[in-house]
Amino acid sequence: MAVASLIPPAPATGEPQSGCYMAATSDCGGRLSREHYISRGLIDGPELRVRGMPWQREEVARFSPDNLVARILCRRHNSAMSPLDAHAIRFFLSVEAGLKHAQRRSLSRKSRFYMTSGDGLELWAMKTLASLYSSGIEFMTPEHRFRDFEPPMERIVAELSSPNPCSIMTLSLPLMQDAHEEQIGRRAVSIGPIVDDETGELSGLLVRMHGIALVFNIDLPDKDALPETEIARPDMIDLIGMDRTSRIFLSRAKRRPEAWIVQIRLSHPRKDPPAGRSDRGCNRQPLRK
Ligand SMILES: [Zn+2]
Repeated sequence: MAVASLIPPAPATGEPQSGCYMAATSDCGGRLSREHYISRGLIDGPELRVRGMPWQREEVARFSPDNLVARILCRRHNSAMSPLDAHAIRFFLSVEAGLKHAQRRSLSRKSRFYMTSGDGLELWAMKTLASLYSSGIEFMTPEHRFRDFEPPMERIVAELSSPNPCSIMTLSLPLMQDAHEEQIGRRAVSIGPIVDDETGELSGLLVRMHGIALVFNIDLPDKDALPETEIARPDMIDLIGMDRTSRIFLSRAKRRPEAWIVQIRLSHPRKDPPAGRSDRGCNRQPLRK
């Protein structure tokens, strides 16, 4: 599942459109479009919750899809980058179908497999970060104001306009059950910035889809910098139900000799009560530097 080029079709227009965050590439066209800055397909129906600190209990704001629009990209750039939304939606729908399969009542023990793009998902997260920041969305946490943390926009624009785009964000999956929502499967997306308390800088985005926590780390030096309880760039996510498993593959252009699998157990009785409330995680350990 390769990621298609995100560059608008040639020839370049030579025009920067003021207000488009890709304007530095001088390849704008068609004025600014009023677009959803989180892939519309992800918030069709389910509401989007925006949280402050990712592991924080209180929800900061809840938005209906109609409120999540802004003029941040010209039409030409918006459509050139739309394949990224398709990758995120494919992942979201694969998790949805995978959960359904693993949890439904049936005597069958057959596993099902779903193919998604790990590279596409990381690029989508980078575009979403740029879009959220450019939209000027106003959300506050008790300690931070999201707008005060400028992501490396120049580098993001350079990557999104490169013939071989490469995300500055690395996906990691927490292994601890309580990093995910207590009830996996709520059909919703939540997004929150991760601020490194030591450096005071934005270090990533936490996205939950159907309650499953996905951490997108900005400029992760290497996988050893992650807390021990997180797996960088998993190749597969297994959703393990009582009787059967769904396996979601996250494809990558660069293959590694070994494959990493994250297993998420569903609807098994828990022995100890979860530490957090539904919808919250545990305290994420800081990155090791
Ligand atoms: Zn543009």
